[in-house]
Amino acid sequence: MPDNWLLCDLHIHTDMSDGKLPLSEVVDLFGEKKFDVISITDHVTDKYTIEERIKNNSDICTIEEEKFSDYLHLLWKESKRAWEQYRMLLIPGMEITNNHDLFHIVVVDVKEFIEPLLPVNEIIEKAHSQGAIAIACHPHNKDSEGKMPFMHLWNNNEKFASLFDAWEVANRDDLFNVVGLKKFNYIANSDFHEKWHVYSWKSLIKSERNKEAVKEAVRQNKDIAIYLFRKEK
Ligand code: ZN
Ligand code: ZN
Repeated sequence: MPDNWLLCDLHIHTDMSDGKLPLSEVVDLFGEKKFDVISITDHVTDKYTIEERIKNNSDICTIEEEKFSDYLHLLWKESKRAWEQYRMLLIPGMEITNNHDLFHIVVVDVKEFIEPLLPVNEIIEKAHSQGAIAIACHPHNKDSEGKMPFMHLWNNNEKFASLFDAWEVANRDDLFNVVGLKKFNYIANSDFHEKWHVYSWKSLIKSERNKEAVKEAVRQNKDIAIYLFRKEK
């Protein structure tokens, strides 16, 4: 990459929630592909969805509140290894997954658990009070019938526009040109769950190689580019 442009993916899941790969394999995969910055953002899911999953005998696929500090410890440990082995920044994150009120929010540089059933503005406030950034996830995702499964953020986009540090203009292979049309702060992430998802939309961010500078570059949203990371031919 040109000077100071960092290859970034700030939306990545592991098998600690519903991703397929364990944390260490995710770190090695992105490290070997020469990524500069990643954020691990496993799901923290609302309790209604969890109750439903338990009732159906399915995996809860969430980081529970009482295990949140263990989760952060694992991320800090791998963050140290990622830096020593690959000079790659790993920033601890979470995806607040509210399937009840139909919104997902990625929080990057999280330090404390945030309750997913809080109103969106309070979630963002809590993220900011921890020094984290808040990203509106897949805000214009459409299912096969053309319906938007997570419509809450987009339906209220005027209200939330400036509260979020950035909106996903691309998520994996999807592009949401409405985010571009509105001129919102934007970012592109893979929403990585399995190996092939590494080949997808990413962000190039012009920044010093430290997490405070990267977060500030996202907030400023000036030197940021979306980039399709392709499979080597
Ligand atoms: Zn999501
Ligand atoms: Zn996700």
